[in-house]
Amino acid sequence: MLKEIDLDKIYDIREYPDKHSGRCDNCDTAQFKSTIPKGEFIRQCAKCGMKKRV
Ligand SMILES: [Zn+2]
Repeated sequence: MLKEIDLDKIYDIREYPDKHSGRCDNCDTAQFKSTIPKGEFIRQCAKCGMKKRV
């Protein structure tokens, strides 16, 4: 599992599954902003900004 979250990095949910499904690994928030740059669905935490490719 992750020890430190790098907020500049985009994690991949296949490598780093959610600790709690649908919640941010870093701050446990369930609110996200989603963007789809280059056809990839990126979920960004609304609170801390952690990004995950889902
Ligand atoms: Zn977060």
